[in-house]
Amino acid sequence: MEPFDYDLFVIGAGSGGVRACRIAASLGARVAVAEERYFGGTCVNVGCVPKKLFSYAAHYFDDFEDSKGFGWSFDNLRFDWSVLKANKDIEINRLNGIYKSLLDSNKVAIFEARARISGPNEVQVEGKKVTAKHILVAVGGWPWTPEFPGSELTVSSNDVFAMDQLPAEIAVMGGGYIAVEFASIFSRLGCKTSLIYRGDQLLRGFDEDIRKFITTEIGTHVDLYLESDISEIQRKNNKLDVLFKLGSTLSCDMVLAATGRLPLTDDLGLETVGVELAKNGAIKVNEHFQTAEPSIYAVGDVIDRVALTPVALAEGQIVARALFSDDEKPMDYRNIATAVFCHPNIGTVGLSEQAAVEAGFEIDVYESVFRPLKHTLSGRDEKSMIKLIVDRESDRVIGLHLVAADAGEIVQGLSVAINCGATKADFDRTIGIHPTLAEEFVTMRTKRGIS
Ligand code: NDP
Repeated sequence: MEPFDYDLFVIGAGSGGVRACRIAASLGARVAVAEERYFGGTCVNVGCVPKKLFSYAAHYFDDFEDSKGFGWSFDNLRFDWSVLKANKDIEINRLNGIYKSLLDSNKVAIFEARARISGPNEVQVEGKKVTAKHILVAVGGWPWTPEFPGSELTVSSNDVFAMDQLPAEIAVMGGGYIAVEFASIFSRLGCKTSLIYRGDQLLRGFDEDIRKFITTEIGTHVDLYLESDISEIQRKNNKLDVLFKLGSTLSCDMVLAATGRLPLTDDLGLETVGVELAKNGAIKVNEHFQTAEPSIYAVGDVIDRVALTPVALAEGQIVARALFSDDEKPMDYRNIATAVFCHPNIGTVGLSEQAAVEAGFEIDVYESVFRPLKHTLSGRDEKSMIKLIVDRESDRVIGLHLVAADAGEIVQGLSVAINCGATKADFDRTIGIHPTLAEEFVTMRTKRGIS
């Protein structure tokens, strides 16, 4: 008889958890998963996927506006949030079903309940003890809001996906991914939108020139309150008053707090085992995603390394392969491409100029700010920006940044070249596709300056 009920028990059926289940099961492991909320986790339910659907809706506004300069005209243009919300819900339900059927078809046992760890090889779920040779914690994260008077009046990004009506006036608090994406989305869907950020440029951690550029671009459609701290929010009849520390007040219908996310490690029974947590509750793991309790592993947002779906997928896959096959390939966190779906989009891979200098590289910088061809007729006053960071010694492109429509689509392709070690000379000998915005990547010849 097998000493354990399962070879792998996964807690959390989000991106990382489901990927680990599927790979482990395909390698012959007996796998179970517990999920108390929704299949597909944050990404599918209250993250990337519904946000991108909202983002498509927001881009139609730009498209309708831009089309006028190309000869189109139309009357009675209106947007109906209830249609978007209903169609989004149908699609998300469909995806939930797909995630669940993927588990079923891989013969993964499913517990639709909360699981708590009660020992190095056991969990309590649905009122009973279940044992497993390995346990994988992939429970993700949850929106976090700082506490201040009236902070309970804010909503989180989770709430936005369930909202029945669009507010006429919204204030978004924060300057990270979620804040800038939703600020652009709300403004294009017709809400008067304010973005309140404590720093002087949005998107800390991104290249400083890109931050400056996108802050200006977002400022064209969103009311920006930079270097602004909220002291209090008060309910005033049907409105909310946002009080700033410096004394002024902003009135709106809703405040979205997009002030970060925290690992969801409370009430998981982790105190019963040797798993160690960081200060913010993140599970500490080694390079094999193994916790201080050797039979317990963790991947995804709960380890707070890089909170991106494709990273969680890769981590889950690495754990499953390492446990149930000879493949022990380590995770490579270098050159992870990412996109921010604000207007215009940002796509980036590799190092910012500041990170490159800090890492000791001697660099050359190529930079271009230009008006895309489309906007010569659309009349839109939107610019694009391209920036390449090149290691002078090896000529390799070690950072690539783009602010433009569909930047994520463009940078995904270029990230392959960066991961292959493409040099500036490789970019230069590549023939462009004319006329495209991305051809600028292969035509930049003038160095911006020497760091
Ligand atoms: P981020 O960490 O990106 O941003 C949080 C923002 O809140 C920062 O601007 C931060 O300011 C601000 N903030 C933090 N604490 C306070 C405070 N006490 N008072 C005022 N402001 C505060 O978190 P998000 O929630 O936007 O996103 C979480 C993660 O999810 C991202 O880091 C990303 O990994 C992922 N994500 C990815 C997306 C994508 O790939 N397109 C989309 C959405 C999320 P400061 O900069 O000063 O610290």
